[in-house]
Order: sequence, then structure tokens, then C-alpha cells
Amino acid sequence: MIAVLKNGTSEKQLEGLLNWIESLGLTVHLSRGDYQTIVGLVGDTSRVDEDLLRSLDIVESVKRISEPFKSANRKFHPDNSVVKVGDTSVGGDIFAVMAGPCSVESEEQVLEIAKAVKAAGATMLRGGAFKPRTSPYDFQGLKADGIEILLHAKKETGLPIVTEIMNANHLPLFEEVDVIQVGARNMQNFELLKELGRTKKPILLKRGLSATIKEWLMSAEYIMAGGNENIILCERGIRSYDSQYTRNVLDLSAIPVLKELTHLPVIVDPSHATGSARLVKPMALAATACGAHGLMIEVHNNPKAALCDGAQSLTPAQFDEVMKSVNHIREI
Ligand code: PEP
Ligand code: MN
Repeated sequence: MIAVLKNGTSEKQLEGLLNWIESLGLTVHLSRGDYQTIVGLVGDTSRVDEDLLRSLDIVESVKRISEPFKSANRKFHPDNSVVKVGDTSVGGDIFAVMAGPCSVESEEQVLEIAKAVKAAGATMLRGGAFKPRTSPYDFQGLKADGIEILLHAKKETGLPIVTEIMNANHLPLFEEVDVIQVGARNMQNFELLKELGRTKKPILLKRGLSATIKEWLMSAEYIMAGGNENIILCERGIRSYDSQYTRNVLDLSAIPVLKELTHLPVIVDPSHATGSARLVKPMALAATACGAHGLMIEVHNNPKAALCDGAQSLTPAQFDEVMKSVNHIREI
């Protein structure tokens, strides 16, 4: 349920309203826009006398929100949310580009890639330290050492770092990580989501392999219900029946749909969506053109020797070319 307040409502009146709502056992989501203040009521709203709320002097209108996602709903927060990450951000004026290797392999590898992607215009460095691999016999990542390597590259380049978490017990290792990634395979790991809700860290929530948009937003809601509203959504392709030529199907229509449904920023990962380096550029351009707030792209200094996802990894030179074209699209 939302209550739109009348212009001119004083702080004291607002405080009185919020106290009353909280006394009913509900939580409040306050959105102060340039033109409107909206009070979102989260919880069992059957306890609220809707007519009474509507009749208050300071209330202009009251609306029930039928969607099950409340905090993530644009009706609760009409303006776009901007997630601050160090000196940069996602969802505001800056087009966020997270680039780097699928897996952290060595200090030299990460540093070389970090410098190259920074020079090409990336705003953040990505790299997997804990890797969710389909086979237990494949490279599982450098784990804690991988995070140390990323932190070293952050110190050298100033780029904030994005890396994936697979187990809430590992959270202490992520203290200096700027953005914690929840991978597609963990999108519905609700216990992990609840733990992340207790932190204040920006969370990059990737779409599950076969998740609907509603399921994805409900996963964001899990994190937000714990008090962490710093969420960035990442479309990374969904499973379909043809995996011969593309790894997944990139659902670009999800971008404008999400921009209607939610205030959270949404970026696109054309690397995992396609599985093929030569498809990354056209999909990165299409994602930029349809309104994504940013991109996540895998870049490797020697894709042929990559320990993970070499086929979809761009060389630094290819990444530079993609960035130039992305900037042209953005100018248009
Ligand atoms: C990744 O970004 O390295 C990754 C494993 O992505 P996803 O969870 O989308 O498969
Ligand atoms: Mn990968």
C-alpha cells in the first residue's frame, strides 16, 4: 500500500504518520522525490484502516500495490535508484561498465587486464574468486587469495571491484569488496539473500538461469526486506531450447519491462548471455540502445589460455573497440 502525501506536509506531521504505521507492526519505505513524498507500507496491510489513512489531512491519495514485490516496486519509489559504489555509481548519469576476467588466475593477469579495461573506460573491475562451476573437476577459483589479488588491483588502479559470493560464511572475506555479486545459480538461495540483506553492501543480483522477471524481483525483495536497498539487477540470458550457437537467450525486453516495474538499476551481461566473443559487441550495443544502465563484460589478456569462459572473453583490444561503439550509441 502507498500513501501519497500532500505538498507542504511538515516533518512533525510526517513523523506522526510514520510512528502510527510502525505501531501497526508495518515497516515504512519513504521516497522523497522532487515533487512528491510517498510513504510505502510493507507487511500485513490488512491491519491498516484504508479509509482512515485516506482521511488524514496530510494524505492526498492511498493505493494498494497488487504486485508481491513492494520495496523494489517503482510505485514505492518513482525516481530511479542510484547505487553508489566508491566514487562511481550505477543507475545515475554514469554508464557503469564492469569488466575483467571470468576468474582471477594470477596477480599479473588481473593487473594487466585491470589497467587495460580502465584505459578503455571501464568503471569497475570484475573477477571471480569463488567460481560456481558445473563440474566439480573444473577450476574452482583462487578463493580468498583471489580476493586479495582483486584488492591489490583496486589499490593500483582505483577501480572498485565486483566479485561473486557463494556462501554467506565467506562474508568476512568480502569486507573491502565494493560490489558483491550473486550469480545466476544462487539467485534463489534465500538464506544467502537474507544474509546480504543485513549488510549495506551494493549487491549485483544476476537473473537465474530460468527465472521469471517476477521471481527475480522477489529475490531482490528478499535483500531489501532485510534493509539493504543497494541492489543492481543484471540480465545475463536465460535458458531456452537452442544452445548450439548461443549459450543462452539474452532477454533484452526485460530491460524496458524492469524499468517500468522497478526503480532499481539494471545492467546487461552479454558475455554469459551469448557464450561467444564475437556476439558480445552486437549485444552490448543493443543493450545500451534499449536503456540498460550499464554492462558487465568478460575480458582476458589471453582468452585461449583462460581457465574459465575463454570462448566468450574479449581481448583488451576488442573491449576497447566495444567501448568506443557503446559510447557512440550513448551519444545518439
Ligand atoms: C560470472 O559472472 O562469472 C558468472 C558465473 O555469471 P552467471 O552467474 O551469470 O553465470
Ligand atoms: Mn564467466
